[in-house]
Amino acid sequence: MPKLDVAILGATGAVGQRFIQLLENHPWFRVAEVVASDRSAGKPYAEACRWVLAGQPPSEVAQLNVLPLDAELNSPIVLSALPGDVAKTLEPELAARGHVVSSNTSSHRMAADVPILLPDINADHVRLVDVQRRNRGWTSGALVTMSNCTIVAMVVALAPLLKFGVKQINLVSMQAISGAGYPGVASLDILDNVIPYIGGEEEKAETEPRKILGALASDHVNMLDATISAACNRVPVLDGHLVCVSVGFEHKPSLDDIKAAWAAFEGHPDARSLPSAPHPIIVYTDGPDRPQPRRDREAGRGMTTTVGRLRECPLLDVKFVGLSHNTIRGAAGGAILNAELLVAQGYVQNAPVALTATAAD
Ligand code: NAP
Repeated sequence: MPKLDVAILGATGAVGQRFIQLLENHPWFRVAEVVASDRSAGKPYAEACRWVLAGQPPSEVAQLNVLPLDAELNSPIVLSALPGDVAKTLEPELAARGHVVSSNTSSHRMAADVPILLPDINADHVRLVDVQRRNRGWTSGALVTMSNCTIVAMVVALAPLLKFGVKQINLVSMQAISGAGYPGVASLDILDNVIPYIGGEEEKAETEPRKILGALASDHVNMLDATISAACNRVPVLDGHLVCVSVGFEHKPSLDDIKAAWAAFEGHPDARSLPSAPHPIIVYTDGPDRPQPRRDREAGRGMTTTVGRLRECPLLDVKFVGLSHNTIRGAAGGAILNAELLVAQGYVQNAPVALTATAAD
């Protein structure tokens, strides 16, 4: 089957490299264009990029010339891992030019007509693309976003519990250093240390989950009616964000009810057969000292969320620990899954019919 060309923006960074690693042998997509800053533009990818993942970049990508930000792109699909300030103007411009943009950056997440997609939870929010096309006069372009990486384990774990009426959430994160990009946090700051501040993170963690877990209305998402308090910390772990979550419910479930809801969770039907969809979406671990980043972050090729330590909470109702791989499920893998959903739902023009499950409205 012919593959769809994708362009990677911010291809030389921590998330960009994950895109390239995850797209090697992808059944639908082929990396055709790589874009980075003026520092890298004009060089072969292998020379421009300090590859920080295992092994080497795939040879087909290693030899691609890095394009500058203002290059005319040919790929119908653009996967973005740019810094927020750069993405802010460029991503809508690319969508206006007809590209389908799946972004990791925070710049447009809270726009009313832009979905924050985690397809296994809220695949129906993709219909906001019809709204943005109407609002913005985009004919074939689109802009969808992946959430902040810190909240992924929490929102995935809470999605099957919404039926109990999630009302209050307290979140304490322990976030890996790869979440700060490359070179990220200086080693003299993070070794033998914990940094109890990550700029802008707590605001995102207190807002985005309410949109992701909210209900789609005709032209916007009604935010989940819940209060969230977040405290975000950087810890000396390479990959994998660990979160301690306490939850208060309208109708308090038993611990067994919660475990049963997690075990039965199959996610939104439109997401189940996408190539990057996690199977299972959630794993519960009984180990008294799990999940742990080093031992559990690769579950489901980095796409599965691991939860554990479910117990009663003396302040709210229950508490648990969640773990998600920040550059896979929380960034590149999540944005690839979003692009797969857009293809399957008919939002990418001229995509092979075999990949398109249902035509867009
Ligand atoms: P990073 O390692 O610092 O990489 C940044 C990338 O953007 C590099 O390819 C860099 O190219 C390029 N870039 C920087 N300034 C540019 C400019 N002015 N014009 C064009 N390209 C420019 O950052 P990252 O961790 O991959 O994060 C990328 C985005 O994803 C950020 O918005 C971040 O918030 C978001 N995100 C990250 C994670 C994570 O776990 N790391 C998770 C979720 C979301 P050069 O190499 O040429 O400088």
